[in-house]
Amino acid sequence: MPGLLARWRERLRGRKQRLIRAGEQMPLLLVSYPAEAEAAVGELEAAYTRSWPAMGEATRSLYLSLWPALPALVVVVLRARNPCGCLGHHHPPGAESRMARRLASELGHPVAEIDLAYDSIRSWCPEPLSSLAAGDMTGELEPLRYRVALLAVLLHEMEHLAFPERSEQEIRHHSREFYRKAMTELVARELGADYGIA
Ligand SMILES: [Zn+2]
Ligand SMILES: [Zn+2]
Repeated sequence: MPGLLARWRERLRGRKQRLIRAGEQMPLLLVSYPAEAEAAVGELEAAYTRSWPAMGEATRSLYLSLWPALPALVVVVLRARNPCGCLGHHHPPGAESRMARRLASELGHPVAEIDLAYDSIRSWCPEPLSSLAAGDMTGELEPLRYRVALLAVLLHEMEHLAFPERSEQEIRHHSREFYRKAMTELVARELGADYGIA
């Protein structure tokens, strides 16, 4: 893997790559990102490797079926925003970038691909903080909220890849449910307050 990464670095000038490794059953993420997205990649890494495993079983159970249904490597293309305004996309088989297709052929193994718009995700608030019972904690909540939002969109796009027959409505329902549960749990643990919609 290291030799392969080095060769890819050569080929993709102007973008950087980071390999994110989490739990054994979880796919490796190969993140491709512009240099200015260094902080966003750090947040994604913290979310995938630390926030996710720290969550309770009730929250993680929404997505445990995902891991065995995905290839061992998922390419994540990060950009600040998408021209269409979407938070992310999954790239169905055949619609992957040239980078993902060549990587798959070099590895001799299927590679899945999604993209995430890290600035759009930062300002995405499915349940606005201002409506929280703990509304004056916005500053303290923000770093946690960003990680949960990154995870919610990552998992949403991964679910599309893993279960292409599922409807957008069903998948969206799962990601909203995940966001709500994860926020409730993290806020209760880190800040000792209930996350409730006023
Ligand atoms: Zn779009
Ligand atoms: Zn979707």
